[in-house]
Amino acid sequence: MSAPLVFEHRANPAPLPAEERARVLAAPGFGRHFTDHMVRATWTAEDGWHDARVEAYGPLQLDPSAAVLHYAQEVFEGLKAYRWEDGSVWSFRPRANAARLARSARRLALPELSEADFLASLHALVEADAAWVPSGGETSLYLRPFMFASEAFLGVRAAARVDYLVIASPAGSYFTGGLKPVSIWLSRDHARAAPGGLGAAKTGGNYAASLLPQQQAAEHGCEQVCFLDAAERTWVEELGGMNVYFVHADGTLVTPALTGTILEGVTRDAILQLAGEVGLRPVERRVSVQEWKDGAASGEITEVFACGTAAVVTPIGRLVDGEEEVVPRGGAEAGEVTERIRAALLDVQHGRAQDRHGWMHRLL
Ligand SMILES: *Cc1c(COP(=O)(O)O)cnc(C)c1O
Repeated sequence: MSAPLVFEHRANPAPLPAEERARVLAAPGFGRHFTDHMVRATWTAEDGWHDARVEAYGPLQLDPSAAVLHYAQEVFEGLKAYRWEDGSVWSFRPRANAARLARSARRLALPELSEADFLASLHALVEADAAWVPSGGETSLYLRPFMFASEAFLGVRAAARVDYLVIASPAGSYFTGGLKPVSIWLSRDHARAAPGGLGAAKTGGNYAASLLPQQQAAEHGCEQVCFLDAAERTWVEELGGMNVYFVHADGTLVTPALTGTILEGVTRDAILQLAGEVGLRPVERRVSVQEWKDGAASGEITEVFACGTAAVVTPIGRLVDGEEEVVPRGGAEAGEVTERIRAALLDVQHGRAQDRHGWMHRLL
């Protein structure tokens, strides 16, 4: 074990003036505005992790031969900091993100960052940019930790120099004016991840693979794309960046079992644990597209939703498979169970409900 990292604070000499920050926080959108600081640490094969600091947010200087630009050796995370009514600031299950970052890093032959160092990096950034954590409604500060191969070398091997950063972006309510169900395009021509590949790692390459199908979804009037397993093209895996759940009339809450090609969402896992509290029996198993279609037609599947940190819980109103449209018998409106699960999660995250699982971690 190496010594824990201490993030040296190098204050931004020119932070955004308070009035301008207030303007940003009033309507932040998603992923467009960034705080005054960022966290950075460097790893070398020789010295391990070092040079940990919080410094002014700004462009990176990268050698054009930096390995990440050529071979995509990078991993990332996404989680939020929530300001509670009493002013305190909390994050949701950050240890699960630390563990997933370590698993992703291992798969991409990147160095691991310890849980303690990961948590310390979040604390350091949120402390420096405390004024950027919005309050009220469903607002939050989205935290984006990431790690990439920064070694200047075109040879194909794991990089001997890696950088870890955390940036932060204020986020407004994802849905304004009520939950809006999304339409999903079923990708028949492309797969997101194959057995033995990178599907279980949170890495940019999986997103790159999803962008063309995502464009095709948009061409068919859909907001999101749903991927099937690459081997049999039969089993529902997930969306480009969200896991999926099926609410059944018999009171079960079904989500595709983790196969190695599905990303293990922290939200997905929390919903498995929450299900019992809202009167549902959680089940992880394979789900075929045919079951989705048949279940929607017969009324056995009453609601379908997607979940992930950014949008929390998003109702799926329609599945479009070529010329065919699949809508639950109850219609394409947000379902009652979906709303209940979404509210249960948000209430814990925003400190309005008791945290029975010890999920919340205080940052400030
Ligand atoms: C991040 C991600 C999710 C959702 O994970 P959460 O931890 O719940 O945010 C689902 N699928 C993919 C492909 C992802 O990258």
